[in-house]
This record gives sequence, C-alpha cells and structure tokens, in this order.
Amino acid sequence: MKIATLLYPGTFDPITNGHVDILRRACSLADRLVVAVASSEEKGALFSQKERLEMVRAEAQRLSGETGTAIEAASFDGLLVEFVAEIGADAILRGLRGGDEYAYESRMAVMNRMLRGVETIFLPASGETAFLSSSLVRQIHAMGRDVGAFVSPAVQERMARMRSNVSTYSK
Ligand code: ADP
Repeated sequence: MKIATLLYPGTFDPITNGHVDILRRACSLADRLVVAVASSEEKGALFSQKERLEMVRAEAQRLSGETGTAIEAASFDGLLVEFVAEIGADAILRGLRGGDEYAYESRMAVMNRMLRGVETIFLPASGETAFLSSSLVRQIHAMGRDVGAFVSPAVQERMARMRSNVSTYSK
C-alpha cells in the first residue's frame, strides 16, 4: 500500500539533482507528492521563494510526466506541521546525506510527531549525489563556474542567465 500524500519540504535554493533523485525514488512510495518550498528568509537565499517555486514546479512537472506519479509544487511560510494539516499530508519526506544531518533531522522529526502526530520518512542519498547540496551549487556559481553537472538544464540555464545579467550590470 502506498502513502496517499507525501510532503517533501525544503529550501530548494536551487533544486539540485540530489533533490530530484530523492523525489524520483519517492514516487514508488506515494500516490501524490507535494514539494513544498519554504520561505527561509533568515537563510539569505540566492533565489526568491517565487523563483525557487518556479524551478521546483518545472522539475515536478517533468518528473510527473516521466513517472506517472502526481507531483505538485507549493510554497509555505511558518510552521511545517501547519502546512501538513492544510494540504492533508500523511507523512513528511526528507533526504539524508550522512550522520551529521541525522542528528538535526531526527530532532525535527520527533518535534513534528509531537506537534501533530506526523511521521517523517527518510531516504538515504544516492551514492552519485550524496555529496551534493544547494549551498555547494551556489558556491560554484559564485566562483563563475558552470553548475550543469549538478542541476537540471533548466536550472543551469537560469543560473547562467543570472550570471550574464550580473556581468552586464557591472560593466
Ligand atoms: P533544508 O534547508 O530544509 O534542509 P534543502 O533544500 O537543503 O532544505 O533540502 C531539502 C531536503 O532534501 C532535505 O531533507 C535535505 O536533506 C535533502 N537533500 C538535499 N540535498 C540532497 C542530496 N544531495 N541527496 C539527498 N537528499 C538531499
């Protein structure tokens, strides 16, 4: 039996091949996946929440076509458990890249269960993308390098455009 609605929350600044790998693998676990883009103003994001949502939506549509699983994109502010209730999600999905992440993630999972009785499902990162993070992609981009090995062509193109806009500005 599959989970009816699985909610995958994150900052997605930007969405990487690592996120997409987790999403693709989660398609066998759920009938419906909702990828939720957090506002995360305190994190000083490179992309606005609206831009992050646009990129996530494009990946969700592509993957949905590929897998046949319903994948939606949404944005949320505030407490995750409130958004869980709002969309009627049955569980939260998170990816795990290693032990350091587990310490933080398990605390969040316990808190979300205590607040709302919602369980968190962890998928381990795949070998090929286990090293990958949005912050690494942002760093490579900031050094003027192409990020095509780590993100989809659509995200790569958006980041390249961003760089050419910046260089036009600084002339
Ligand atoms: P957050 O700021 O909430 O951690 P992220 O966008 O960085 O948001 O990550 C969202 C989720 O995706 C988290 O569960 C994170 O551990 C997971 N994740 C990010 N990158 C990878 C990756 N390369 N492999 C597996 N999971 C990943």
